[in-house]
Amino acid sequence: CGIVGYVGNNKSLEVLLGGLKRLEYRGYDSAGVAIIDGAGKLETRKRAGKLQMLLDDLSEHPLGNGATGIGHTRWATHGGPTDVNAHPHLSRDSKLALIHNGIIENFSELKNELLAEGETFVSETDTEVAALLVGREYAKSGNLTEALRGVVARLEGAFTLLAVHEDEPGVVVGARRNSPLVIGLGDGENFLGSDVAAFVEFTRRAVAIGQDQIVTIRPDSVEVTDFEGNAVHVEEFDIAWDA
Ligand code: GLU
Repeated sequence: CGIVGYVGNNKSLEVLLGGLKRLEYRGYDSAGVAIIDGAGKLETRKRAGKLQMLLDDLSEHPLGNGATGIGHTRWATHGGPTDVNAHPHLSRDSKLALIHNGIIENFSELKNELLAEGETFVSETDTEVAALLVGREYAKSGNLTEALRGVVARLEGAFTLLAVHEDEPGVVVGARRNSPLVIGLGDGENFLGSDVAAFVEFTRRAVAIGQDQIVTIRPDSVEVTDFEGNAVHVEEFDIAWDA
């Protein structure tokens, strides 16, 4: 299972698919991407099976180019490997897309809470709970970083989460607890990955995200905070190994 995020130039799809290919070695049963296209619309494609299934879907139903996107390979833990259970998962208004590696241990408790409030679910995943919760937080703050911060402290278990929102093009937000996340620093572009393999063909400059931290990347900036919102000092390292 793997995660890749990109913000920068109009080549997000190429970066995401290249990254997912490089993360294939981790094993997976489904793959998907979400992109904010040139028209500013959030579009997703996702398929159970090998990356080739997603590529076939993309050639049948092409995605517009965009400068912002996230990509995911899934290793199913909650809900079988189906197209519907594949990530990204969407908020109720379909403006926010979220991907997740790991397990949200308290998802059934959170799901029951949402069901009681009239929410409906389309998938059987633990992840969709997080997508709906972050969507609800976004409706309050209109800020993707704050929306993620408002939810992650409530999630138990292991997660690397990435989210994008149609109303905040040029931003990818990530969070991690008990699961890895690394930033790749570019020139007018930045990357996120579950490991450096996700972006090593584009940059050798990286920053590891610590436990219980949130990262917001834009084409020209990278901001890391803890779950309480305090700024975190980050240290850059060079990716030494051969790509
Ligand atoms: N628990 C999530 C799911 O089953 C994510 C699994 C993963 O790490 O890919 O969809």
